[in-house]
Amino acid sequence: MTVTEALRHAAIKFKTVDIDAPALEAGVILCTALNKDRSFIYSHGELELSSQQEKEFLISINSRIEGKPLQYITGHQEFMSLDFLVSEHVLIPRQDTEILVETVINHVKTTKLNNMLSILDLCTGSGCIAVSLAYYIKNCRVIGVDVSEQALDVAHLNAVRNNVGGQTGFIKADLKSQREIQISNKADIVVSNPPYIAESVIKQLKPEVRDYEPAIALDGGEHGLDFYKIIAGKLRRILKPGGFIALEIGYDQAESVIEIFGEVCVDLKIIKDLSGNDRVITGFMKN
Ligand code: GLN
Repeated sequence: MTVTEALRHAAIKFKTVDIDAPALEAGVILCTALNKDRSFIYSHGELELSSQQEKEFLISINSRIEGKPLQYITGHQEFMSLDFLVSEHVLIPRQDTEILVETVINHVKTTKLNNMLSILDLCTGSGCIAVSLAYYIKNCRVIGVDVSEQALDVAHLNAVRNNVGGQTGFIKADLKSQREIQISNKADIVVSNPPYIAESVIKQLKPEVRDYEPAIALDGGEHGLDFYKIIAGKLRRILKPGGFIALEIGYDQAESVIEIFGEVCVDLKIIKDLSGNDRVITGFMKN
């Protein structure tokens, strides 16, 4: 099979299962199988694939047809203009979450926080939030926390890959347990995009998400609010008085999350995403 034949074969199959950009995805998957960039495949149409490359390509094409997200096939996702590795142990970084990162960056800029800041990212997953903050805020150190060791491995690789290995650290902790998170000092900023999908809604998610992304990264308990309650309960021990908190939320959770954090925070605000949905809650730890 040549490069052109491979592209055509995949694009036709993708069209029959209504994949949005069949030719584009075919090209991206072929690049992964050949370990080459797009310009290479478009200038080497006649090149024969080795039997190993052809096998890998056909397996990937079938996985994609069965619904596996493209990012788990290529192993990459762009986020905040940085390249992140992803595996099936982590949620694929979402564009919506960039609002959360931008909110924290803006807070640091507008309040002119020039001293060395400590930031805690709870439920760090791929580390996309922790790594982006470390990358764009030079005067900070970020600790990412997650319960999954496989996720922490991915987060660590992402930090090194984006040259912020020295500014970041990753620790394992189960927020659902009674144990405190082992940090030496309270943070200046706490940020989190925790699992927030309500149990009943998980079944209705798109199969690409429901069947492939880690359930542990989606499941927020009966009403999707479990992690917000846990974080609010632990906040006094991990965030300095007057410290800033920013949380991603589901489009219909603003009121509940504000109520949960009203106990420990002041000046709670809602920030909308680009589609006009409530997406982020910010606030300050009570003094
Ligand atoms: N914080 C990570 C992200 O935004 C993981 C979120 C999660 O696992 N729910 O991608």
